[in-house]
Amino acid sequence: MQAVNPKQFPKLLIYMNNKPEESLSEEKRSLNFIEAIIEEDLQNNKNESRVHTRFPPEPNGYLHIGHAKSICLNFGMAEKYNGKCNLRFDDTNPEKEETEYVDSIMEDVQWLGFQWDKEPYYASDYFDQLYEWAKLLIRKGLAYVDDQSQELISQQKGTPTRPGIPSPFRLRSIEENMDLFERMKNGEFPNGARVLRAKIDMTSPNMHMRDPVLYRILHAEHHRTGNTWKIYPMYDFAHGQSDYLEGITHSLCTLEFEVHRPLYDWFLDQLIDTTYRPRQIEFARLNLSYTVMSKRKLLELVKTNIVNGWDDPRMPTIAGLRRRGYTPASIRAFADRIGVAKRDNVIDVGLLEFSVREDLNKTSPRVMAVLDPVKLIISNYPEGQIEDLELVNNPEDLDSGIRMVPFGKELYIERDDFMVDPPNKYFRLAPGREVRLKGAYVIKCESFELDSNNLVKTIYCTYDVETKSGTGSKQPKIKGTLHWVEASNAIDAEVRLYDRLFMDEDPSGHKDQDVIAFLNPESLKVLNGCKLEPMLAKAEIGQQFQFQRLGYFSVDKDSLKNNPVFNRTVSLKDNWTKTKGQ
Ligand code: ATP
Ligand code: MG
Repeated sequence: MQAVNPKQFPKLLIYMNNKPEESLSEEKRSLNFIEAIIEEDLQNNKNESRVHTRFPPEPNGYLHIGHAKSICLNFGMAEKYNGKCNLRFDDTNPEKEETEYVDSIMEDVQWLGFQWDKEPYYASDYFDQLYEWAKLLIRKGLAYVDDQSQELISQQKGTPTRPGIPSPFRLRSIEENMDLFERMKNGEFPNGARVLRAKIDMTSPNMHMRDPVLYRILHAEHHRTGNTWKIYPMYDFAHGQSDYLEGITHSLCTLEFEVHRPLYDWFLDQLIDTTYRPRQIEFARLNLSYTVMSKRKLLELVKTNIVNGWDDPRMPTIAGLRRRGYTPASIRAFADRIGVAKRDNVIDVGLLEFSVREDLNKTSPRVMAVLDPVKLIISNYPEGQIEDLELVNNPEDLDSGIRMVPFGKELYIERDDFMVDPPNKYFRLAPGREVRLKGAYVIKCESFELDSNNLVKTIYCTYDVETKSGTGSKQPKIKGTLHWVEASNAIDAEVRLYDRLFMDEDPSGHKDQDVIAFLNPESLKVLNGCKLEPMLAKAEIGQQFQFQRLGYFSVDKDSLKNNPVFNRTVSLKDNWTKTKGQ
């Protein structure tokens, strides 16, 4: 395995120094803080020693790499402790939710290699029960209908150091509250006319305890319950109780919910009387450099056609990463490497790229592809002769075998592998110089021809039949080895070179400027007329290859028969810092 180069990942190094035990996947890694909590609960026989987690996405967009971290954590804990993990759609916000998102989320979780317990669950399955619980709070004198606008209610909330102002409707009678809440449910009032609030403490130092809103009126069609409901529960009122109804033991969520935890516990304390309790535990969300992770901003990129859909290979969505050529194993390895922390941090996107490079290096066959072709003619090679050469598919995986690659008089090589007037240390092809053609012969450049624009049109070489790779009697030491493709058998392909979508390390971190200001104008370069070795005509969508000397490439869904489209997943080395950064 390649070691992580600290110079490449300065942030990671800082992170590792802070929390060495939580950052690297070593066999003898000590427990992360969540595992420590779970193991303590198991020892104390809490909740009959069950471990049951859940992944609770809101179906209002496609999942991204941040969600992948949460998925790996939730499903990973269930796997490790022989427990279960539910998939639960948190669908309490009908205006933004769609079944397209539900389907994509299920596909992405399974693609990552995880399977939820039983059927997927939906918060909307619990709307009846939540409604009953809301009435129970009213009957206990712990909830009231407030006729004020949301705006006024927020103004009255106060600040962490200044207590809130109690609503004039706070002392409404239980009967009146029951009556109004039922009429809210029946659709008698327009959107925004009233809300149901918990009656907790308007002076609490925790703003979330200052009579939070439980229900709002919303005349909107829900993707599952249709027009049945005119009121919808707020996230806080739905989440903990949904956990409870599903028997969740450890409810893992991101740090911003830490301040919601007292409310999570308060609802359960008021509503249930079992000793079984789900427990909310917060961990730091994944932030990646050069990456935007907010679903709202990703949706904007899609809607304004800055990218070509949610699965554009430049998107940090799981669908985008998949189309780009990322493997599930590489994403899981990445999640494992970054670990879980209790404090926010930023991970270098180079670490994600490192993970896919490492995985594809082991698994992807090597092939030859010329992206910017120039013709090369071997003058002393017999006219019309084609010979099949044996090339190794993957030196990292000898079981992957060999393949036959045609060789002949007319070839293509990369335009930038030839220079008319090269500097001394240029080890590629130039007039009078020799190079080895990968898996074939040593050739010497004798002359070249320019076109009317003074660009090299044809390179003329000679070869020595005795220098045949491996078997020839002459094996001179030659510094440069070039990849090539035989011209008459080559297939044409489109190759899409993807780069980072944003040029700024923290595109969302500028108060006065939208992320759009930091788009990388060179995030996509489309190359047409690339020449590939013929076996790639049979490549299937999603298949991955290493184009030798160039990088890892994956077959795109836009491919046509015998005319594939390839996406560059990642270059062979991290050349971002060299060319663009610092
Ligand atoms: P929204 O802005 O729509 O609330 P969200 O990113 O929080 O977006 P959810 O669908 O609510 O999206 O997230 C589902 C789960 O994934 C939650 O438990 C959430 O905490 C977790 N999650 C979301 N973003 C990240 C992230 N960057 N890193 C780790 N976990 C995340
Ligand atoms: Mg959320």
